[in-house]
Amino acid sequence: MALPMFSRDRKVKVLATLGPASGSPEMIEKMYRAGVDAFRMNMSHGKHEAHAANVVSIRALEKKVGRPIAILADLQGPKLRIGAFAKGSIELKAGAKFVLDNERKKGDVKRVTLPHKEILETLEAGQILLLDDGKIRLKVVKTDGKKIETEVLTGGPLSDRKGVNVPDVVIPVTALTSKDLKDLTFALEQQVDWIALSFVQRPEDVAEARRLIGGKAALLSKIEKPSAIDRLDEILELSDAVMVARGDLGVELRPEHVPPLQKEIVSKARKLGRPVVVATQMLESMITSPTPTRAEVSDVATAIYDGADAIMLSAESAVGKWPIESAKMMDRIAERVEADPSYAKRVHFTETLPDETTADALAAASYNIARTVETSAIVCFTTSGSTARRMARERPSVPLLVLTPNRKTARRVGLLWGAHAVVTRDVSNFEEMIEKAKRMALRHKLAEAGSRLIVCAGVPFGTPGSTNLLHVVRLTGNELKRS
Ligand code: PEP
Repeated sequence: MALPMFSRDRKVKVLATLGPASGSPEMIEKMYRAGVDAFRMNMSHGKHEAHAANVVSIRALEKKVGRPIAILADLQGPKLRIGAFAKGSIELKAGAKFVLDNERKKGDVKRVTLPHKEILETLEAGQILLLDDGKIRLKVVKTDGKKIETEVLTGGPLSDRKGVNVPDVVIPVTALTSKDLKDLTFALEQQVDWIALSFVQRPEDVAEARRLIGGKAALLSKIEKPSAIDRLDEILELSDAVMVARGDLGVELRPEHVPPLQKEIVSKARKLGRPVVVATQMLESMITSPTPTRAEVSDVATAIYDGADAIMLSAESAVGKWPIESAKMMDRIAERVEADPSYAKRVHFTETLPDETTADALAAASYNIARTVETSAIVCFTTSGSTARRMARERPSVPLLVLTPNRKTARRVGLLWGAHAVVTRDVSNFEEMIEKAKRMALRHKLAEAGSRLIVCAGVPFGTPGSTNLLHVVRLTGNELKRS
């Protein structure tokens, strides 16, 4: 089955996590055709060989469909875990005493190993420890740097190597663990387009990761710690994109804090022109059921109305029974929401005032032209993708055709709202630029005879950061013969 050149009739992008349920060439292709724009490899799970095989499948699919596809490698980050129990699990009773220590023996109902020296040394009396996604709550009573005595506030079953969250403190750990460093080297060798950084606590974490990545991939910061919320503006400044990682965010803070924070993160990211992904439990019930709950559909719709650049499937596509149906459902919800006449008004609830730059002035002008006269697309010539991001930030009513000679840029644009990237040779003069804009818009079904296009580029052509040219052009119909 041949794919139409422009297969998506929506602006928001769908990012899907690969895993045992979807990690085969056939499934990757089916997911793409069902509506997935970009794929996430979760480095917390799976072997490098399996991730490498998925990269090969995605790059082969790119060739087959003639479209750039973004790959994001999500590093595990400093995820903290307790050790194992002699009997595999215990039952903790509310009110009981429970100790976390550095002893190298299996745990029981009185104690368990916490193999993280930095937490044993950092926590203080009165602070809270959350185990197993917040199901168990412990209050620190006493600590001596080697062991933490706690009182169980909320009890329940607890088994081997469950996760530990410490929302009250900034833990003195580096942004990238030794596992992350190995995974990062692997991911960069695989030439992934995006690296996601987990459990970002401070701007310094982002700066450190950026230094290690060295421009070989774009950097997305996952916002899931209260300390990252405290310094959100600085983290946003240093990141190429952010993710509202609602799973851990809803553990570190209580779930009722997540919706207002989602609104705040999406809005701030949009103001700065950083792509923002809303993630986790979007269609959770589709892990086991072929249809979602109405509440989940509403949640996905809310993220789209807020103007998120991308919405994400996690376990639904990685380990669920219905990965293709989940992708189709995301696609259907997006198309329906974006067809709502009130969508544009709601998306523009976030005011994105232009910076004092020529690129922003042209982006704002393009947005206004598309609102004022009937236009079928904005065509944007870009090398680094920066002009495309400033255009997308305006959330224009028409698609954004991003023409770039840089394949990396084209792939990275896979997370950007409304953008349809095409790798093509640079132009060298004005006539060539207009001809190419028309030809590409026709070829990618973004224009027809009589359509009007807004064309944006930088002169001298091919010079990054030179965006200074805006031209409105109408297709005569003769171009059809040459496209
Ligand atoms: C999250 O916590 O919401 C998240 C996206 O991270 P992970 O899936 O790695 O836990």
